[in-house]
Amino acid sequence: MFGGMQDWPLRIMRLLDYAEREHGGREIVSRWADGSTTRTDWRGVARDSRRLAAALERLGIRRGDRVATLAMNHSRHLVAWYGTIGMGGIVHTVNPRLFEEQLVYIFNHAEDRILFYDHVFAPLVAKIRPQLKSVEHFICFDPGPSGTDAPAEGESRPGNLGIGFEALLAAENGDYRWIEGDEREPAMLCYTSGTTGNPKGVLYEHRSTVLHAMAEVQPDIFDLSRRACVLPIVPMFHAASWGLPFAAPIAGCKIVFTADYTPSVVCDLLHDEEVTHTAAVPTVWLAMMQYADASGRDFGQLRLITIGGSAAPPAMIEYFMKRGIRVGHAWGMTEMSPIGTVGAPPFDWEDLSFDEQVSLTCRQGRVPFGVEMRIVDDEGHALPRDGRSSGRLQVRGPWVVEQYYKEEHKAIDAEGWFDTGDVAILHPDGTMQITDRSKDVIKSGGEWISSIELENAAMGCPGVAEAAAVAVPHPKWDERPLLLVVRKEGSTVSAREIRDHLTGHVAKWWLPDEIIFVETLPHTATGKLLKTALREQYRDYRLQTA
Ligand code: ADP
Repeated sequence: MFGGMQDWPLRIMRLLDYAEREHGGREIVSRWADGSTTRTDWRGVARDSRRLAAALERLGIRRGDRVATLAMNHSRHLVAWYGTIGMGGIVHTVNPRLFEEQLVYIFNHAEDRILFYDHVFAPLVAKIRPQLKSVEHFICFDPGPSGTDAPAEGESRPGNLGIGFEALLAAENGDYRWIEGDEREPAMLCYTSGTTGNPKGVLYEHRSTVLHAMAEVQPDIFDLSRRACVLPIVPMFHAASWGLPFAAPIAGCKIVFTADYTPSVVCDLLHDEEVTHTAAVPTVWLAMMQYADASGRDFGQLRLITIGGSAAPPAMIEYFMKRGIRVGHAWGMTEMSPIGTVGAPPFDWEDLSFDEQVSLTCRQGRVPFGVEMRIVDDEGHALPRDGRSSGRLQVRGPWVVEQYYKEEHKAIDAEGWFDTGDVAILHPDGTMQITDRSKDVIKSGGEWISSIELENAAMGCPGVAEAAAVAVPHPKWDERPLLLVVRKEGSTVSAREIRDHLTGHVAKWWLPDEIIFVETLPHTATGKLLKTALREQYRDYRLQTA
């Protein structure tokens, strides 16, 4: 038996319809790679999305077909998302920072029929194009160098329409009605970063995306409202820019996109556009902090920065909090659309000392309604939320993956739990603290050393820009930690100084057996430390202590 209320499928296009109707004039600003800036609003995005939907149908794209994008953040990319979803297609955001063979694998696995790309990626597209089996049309987002909508480099080959994105839209009058359907139909395809094995596709649904967006606007998550101006630094190809382009239409906030991540450019935008909210991975903030220190500039009206994707080091959290900026420490993964937990001030925040506030913010926060979370031991028994027990972190909920794209088996257990591969502690107040990836933990004498905690402690040492802790073999202890350190520019910090600093912050038996200084550390395509490469590189490393 049903109740007496209306059946109103949670379809993504309702987000855009709402924004067009209720927040139509709210601005969407794009700072392009060539330095120019354009402005549109939700009305403009809705109009262009209808045009694109019609154009895609004209090109023969059908319901369920995959439409790929290889692009940075800008309003045309947003139109490509909504236009594709509006005509029943599945938008597939591809990370241009992946290795070429991964890119080829992903395009062929997804069987994309169209690729929209930024002009800056034209050389990359030209290079991999002969290996792309399914892509029929390549369409450049940018106007050509002449200022017209000319095709980009290498576009004279077969399969090209010979026109760019704007020309494609201009041929349509925008008289289009969105495709309707079930709320559980797919709408978007995102591949995991693939630090181990081939990348895996996660197929988001209309419902999962809408519920996730509704959760995101909450004060304790992204705190979005009409008064907010959000600059999503996290790229649209990284877990859908953490869902911000779907949450913003609900809130009616202003959006500022940038295709250029140079700290001075981002800083200009913060000031010029009066940005209040942003979100990005720690590596981006590291660069921003260094730029701000060197230039003496501040962050304008910034109120909240969300840091996630890897652990936010305490020194970073402290840096922004001292400047009156709230830090939302978020944890999630592509498999979770991506929000799993976010930190926010508890009711007794004002009673905490500054140091207590910082250490609370170092934890990865709490789940919103819609995510269930637990930790289990190696036998799968649930562990208590006692702030001490550490176990494998599992999640379930309407925006958590059930089955990877084209995989035969489910990714969850019989009770619906998805094992995240992270190791965590749950505290009695509901906050979660990631201690490691299960494959990154350092097992010394049968006990676990948290590589994240070691890295965080090292990064709090003056003169240290970045640090990575990896396990290296040890005859007696099985594994011992090796610490790789990148010094800050001009710093001469020594191994002894770092060790002295660590002594005050971690257990004695956690102290790294050796500290090696390196020029740079490898990062994944989404800006995380590439631990697999480091482990591989130092696999046969012989410690002096061994
Ligand atoms: P994505 O590319 O969307 O970030 P991945 O699957 O590559 O997705 O990464 C998800 C993983 O990133 C998590 O399982 C976790 O290990 C790590 N991660 C994300 N946020 C945090 C955080 N705040 N602290 C520690 N680790 C994090």
